[in-house]
Parts: sequence; C-alpha cells; structure tokens
Amino acid sequence: MSEDVLLKVKGLEKKYGDIEALKGIDLEVKKGEVVVVLGPSGCGKSTFLRCINGLEEISKGEIHLEGYGLLGKEIPFEKVRGIVGMVFQSYELFPHLNVINNILLGPTKAQNRKKEEAEKQADELLNRVGLFNRKFSYPRELSGGQKQRIAIVRALCMNPEIMLFDEVTAALDPEMVREVLMVLLELAKNGMTMIVVTHELEFAKHVADKIVFMEEGKLVEVTTPKEFFNNPKTERAKSFLASFDLYK
Ligand code: ADP
Repeated sequence: MSEDVLLKVKGLEKKYGDIEALKGIDLEVKKGEVVVVLGPSGCGKSTFLRCINGLEEISKGEIHLEGYGLLGKEIPFEKVRGIVGMVFQSYELFPHLNVINNILLGPTKAQNRKKEEAEKQADELLNRVGLFNRKFSYPRELSGGQKQRIAIVRALCMNPEIMLFDEVTAALDPEMVREVLMVLLELAKNGMTMIVVTHELEFAKHVADKIVFMEEGKLVEVTTPKEFFNNPKTERAKSFLASFDLYK
C-alpha cells in the first residue's frame, strides 16, 4: 500500500446553531487505505462524511485533498462529487429514471463526458456488481440490496479518488447486507480509498486498515482493528463494543 496521504482533515469543526456536531477533527487518510468510523448514534459520523463530501459548510478547519487543494477554496463545491464519491443509507436513485440513466446523469451532466464513453464504463461497473441484466430496470423493480449496488456504481462512475459510505447496509434486510458488503470488500481489495461508517463490526474487523472511534464530535481512538477490538483504550469504546456483545 502506498504511503501517500490523499485526504488530510485539520481542526474540523461543525456547528448546527448551538449544537457542536464536530469539535476539532484531525485525520489523515492514505491512498488505498480503508478507514472504518465507529461510534454511537449522534456522535457526528454522518456529519463528518458530509463535510468531506462538501454537503455541509464547515464552521472551522480545513479539508485538503492531495493533488486538488482545499475543499471550498481550490476545489469548488460543484466539483467535489467527482473527486469524493458518497453513498448513503437511502439509495437516493431517481424513481423516474432507469438504472443506466441514473448512473449516467453525473458523468454526462456534471462532468460533461460523452455518453458512449461513460456508458461503456457503466456497463463494466454493472457487470462488476452483478447487475448488468438490470441496466434498463427502474428502481421500483429492484430489491434494496440491488438499489444500493446501483447507488455504488453511480458514485464509482464519476471516477472518484475516495469513496465515503454512510451506513449503506443499515436499511437492508439481513440477507441483502452481505451482497452489498461484498461489493465494498471487492472495492477495498482493488485499492479504492474508502471511509466507511458502519455498525457491521465483523466487516469492520475484516476490511479496515484503520479504525476511528468517535464520541461527541471527537475522534477518541484512531488505531488498528486488532488493537481496537482486542484492547479498546477508552471506557466509551469498551461500552460501545459491549453493546454488541463482542467485548468481554
Ligand atoms: P451520527 O451520524 O454519528 O449518528 P450525526 O452526524 O448525524 O451523528 O449527528 C451529530 C450531531 O449533529 C447530532 O447531535 C445531531 O442531532 C446533530 N445534527 C446532525 N445534522 C443536523 C442538522 N441538519 N441540523 C441540526 N443538527 C444536526
């Protein structure tokens, strides 16, 4: 794995009125690294990803993407989506567009790419997630797991440098969780730089290069999966793991 730092977050703060959602976050993510963010509900995980994706205006601090510059300064917000891909818990596919038109919207409209060229890439990606035969289906004709895999393809088709996953399996039936996690696993194996927010601890253990544990808007542990699951340092992390009945 390359040691190059791709994403550097410095002193990131985010306030919603009086609520301090992020209280000074520092994090470096290297090219090809898989960072899994864990933490109790409301600790700021989603806000953190949304800031990196330019969906939230940050209150203080910096987000730097190697080769592009500072988010919101050298990288205009309308360009962020092509560099930082994000997939959400709810798939957010357009119901009136079929699969291929959902996927091609970003590449052709936001990136001004030629339809034929983008469609070739979309076909390859659809094959990769096992859904080429659903190219002309509409979202209502797909299962939750299939919709989520399409949402992943849609983000990948913009050729992002880094992918952010915000609890992408949380709304899925258990049997569909696996098919989506397999796609994430394959991406990780192929060297995609990823930040993954999840409650799937076995998956986190398996796929993460680095575990980040958040509490009340701060990163309280940044460590290896082995260290985090075998020897959590903070009481909060211990009780978090105990709530999954994994820590004894
Ligand atoms: P998590 O993803 O860890 O569950 P969030 O990032 O969603 O946490 O939320 C962090 C904190 O910020 C919470 O206190 C939440 O209520 C608050 N928050 C998140 N989004 C908004 C918003 N749009 N307006 C006001 N408060 C928000």
